[in-house]
Amino acid sequence: MRHNISALKKLSRNLWWSWDTEAKELFKELSPLLWERVNHNPVELLHHISNDELKARLDCEFGKKLNSVIERFENYLTEKETWAAKHAPLLAEKTVAYFSAEFGIHESVRIYSGGLGVLAGDHIKSASDLGLNLAGITLFYKEGYFRQCLNQQGWQTEDYPLQYPESLPLEKVTDSEGKDLVISLDIAQSEVFAQAWSLNVGRAKLYLLDTNIPVNEPHYRNICSRVYGGDQNMRINQEIVLGIGGVKLLRALGINPAVYHMNEGHSAFLTAELLVTELEKGKGLAEAKENVKEQCVFTTHTPVAAGHDRFSRDMIHYSFDKYLQKSGIALDDFMRLGSEDPSNLHGLFTMTVLAINLSRSANGVSKLHGRVSREMWQHIYAVESPEKVPIGHITNGVHTASWCSGFTDRFWRQYTDNLETFTASPDTAAEVLAKVTDEELWYLRYRLKRNLVDFIYRYLSNQLFHQHVYAAHMEADSSKSTKNPLSPDVLTIGFARRFATYKRAPLIFSDIERLTRIMNHPTMPVQIIFAGKAHPHDDAGKHYIQQIVEHARLPQFKGKIIFLENYDLGVAKRMISGVDVWLNNPIRPMEASGTSGQKTALHGGLNFSIPDGWWPEAYNGGNGWSIGKGEQFENHQDQDRHDAEQLYDILENQIIPTFYDRNADNIPVKWLKKVRNAVTSIGPVYNTHRMVKDYTLQYYLKD
Ligand SMILES: *Cc1c(COP(=O)(O)O)cnc(C)c1O
Repeated sequence: MRHNISALKKLSRNLWWSWDTEAKELFKELSPLLWERVNHNPVELLHHISNDELKARLDCEFGKKLNSVIERFENYLTEKETWAAKHAPLLAEKTVAYFSAEFGIHESVRIYSGGLGVLAGDHIKSASDLGLNLAGITLFYKEGYFRQCLNQQGWQTEDYPLQYPESLPLEKVTDSEGKDLVISLDIAQSEVFAQAWSLNVGRAKLYLLDTNIPVNEPHYRNICSRVYGGDQNMRINQEIVLGIGGVKLLRALGINPAVYHMNEGHSAFLTAELLVTELEKGKGLAEAKENVKEQCVFTTHTPVAAGHDRFSRDMIHYSFDKYLQKSGIALDDFMRLGSEDPSNLHGLFTMTVLAINLSRSANGVSKLHGRVSREMWQHIYAVESPEKVPIGHITNGVHTASWCSGFTDRFWRQYTDNLETFTASPDTAAEVLAKVTDEELWYLRYRLKRNLVDFIYRYLSNQLFHQHVYAAHMEADSSKSTKNPLSPDVLTIGFARRFATYKRAPLIFSDIERLTRIMNHPTMPVQIIFAGKAHPHDDAGKHYIQQIVEHARLPQFKGKIIFLENYDLGVAKRMISGVDVWLNNPIRPMEASGTSGQKTALHGGLNFSIPDGWWPEAYNGGNGWSIGKGEQFENHQDQDRHDAEQLYDILENQIIPTFYDRNADNIPVKWLKKVRNAVTSIGPVYNTHRMVKDYTLQYYLKD
């Protein structure tokens, strides 16, 4: 049985477990309470359970379950007949180096802030499933992104609990002699060192650079403390470690990638290190540039100006002086690579421009975002019209298995082998759905919503421990002890994402009286669940959170509008699986893609969204609702008024009546027709398997 203890430990150290329903349940079964307390972190869970206890458990039924999971895990790791082996054999061998400042793989590994990280996490998982040889590169953030608490005034406060490598499935990267592998970097006039950790994500590896080591001067140790933490100076230092450090790390590991993929401009300094390598081979600058371009592809992720890092010439000079001196690159030449206007080398250095200039391809993340990006960056390309700008698009997706709750996964597996065959194409999904009766489908919806409602009750009870925002909800029924404020019978709308202002979280409160009438309808009520973090520097976003909390406290909304603190991957999974309607109302066309709505599809949730990002591509008239037709107004007030009006109209005249229109068995037949349409039209298309295949065939493989 010792063998099985080590197998269990090995399983806990590969995040593959996080997208396998039976593996997840194994850890939970060991101790459901502890499992919650350690935030679903199996490495920490196993620290709390003695080998004696494990031995006892392994002798029973649990041992059999473990064996079957381990068998599947081992088969997964050694599978040779993968999609990549067949369609991209080069990349089943040579490495795709995928750089991202954040990776959202699982809530227990807090190295992400929002959608960009979640996308990177889903990308690496699909790459693993498909058999691509992909190595992710990022930073190890000891403090992660912040934990959100709301104070009595509904104002967001942040704290930064530490995460320790010992409690995570991280392995120290060592050199051939078994010593810690340390790379050296030039930042300003200093030498800065970084060690590296590695994390197993199925067959793929994620490397995390870490400057928190004693040899560094104290102010360089904390470069990687927080995801997007600190000021501009911290930001440029992080990006040097990520980009330049990442290339040096790969070289030290003997990895010679077939392609470097920059997931957003944060990592674009990697091109500088590749350029230096070319110059060292004796190439001239022009040829060196061409050679670097041949190796790199770039994905841009936002039309929001603040989402593009820009550094002053002074900062570039300060941080890169020694580096450029050593490599013989003139500051002007370097500035030219990142300047929007090459005739003015004293302006800003833009990471997106650097990435574009030194990549063989660039792409946006939805069809609409591709178009917006071509307009946005036309001036870089000296072409006369946006259509001529060579920026393409690959629409984002989500990693299906990660985003399916265990309950949903099991549900579909009653009718099909597994999720992959289910979502192979809209036709295969439709065939499976044809076997599912309306009663069964409605049962799925009901159970998922019941799970969410129960989860929220527990979550709010915990929230009560440290603040009093929700005392009101619970106290309403204090005479009969605390009662769950929410009901699984009520139409439930979810809204959760980063509280960037362009996402307009409070839009639904534009007309309080109308919303009051809608939500308190005697026979067709509505409840809404919100969650999301504002960036610590974003006071406007924090005001939005506060507004929502204040509204939630109004007597007419008490117990009907809930704000869940500390949105993360765990909360996201609960919300997207349970809600009936997923609301998204950004200012068009600011949402490059958005992915949260894609996560709801296989659970039978319906999207209700501004036609922005991925939604105009996916919306077919019957698989959800579109808020307006993309009408755009000059000023924000007109835009908000128009969009809010549309939102209310559709809610009142379409969504609510359809949901509450029941047959003799209390089943909403027309609603379920839409659910079926959403499952078949969204699940098989807006997933990262399709997305990673697209990247591979369109961008990773050179033609
Ligand atoms: C999916 C996800 C996001 C992205 O949400 P969008 O609505 O696409 O912006 C952000 N944060 C978390 C935790 C997520 O799971």
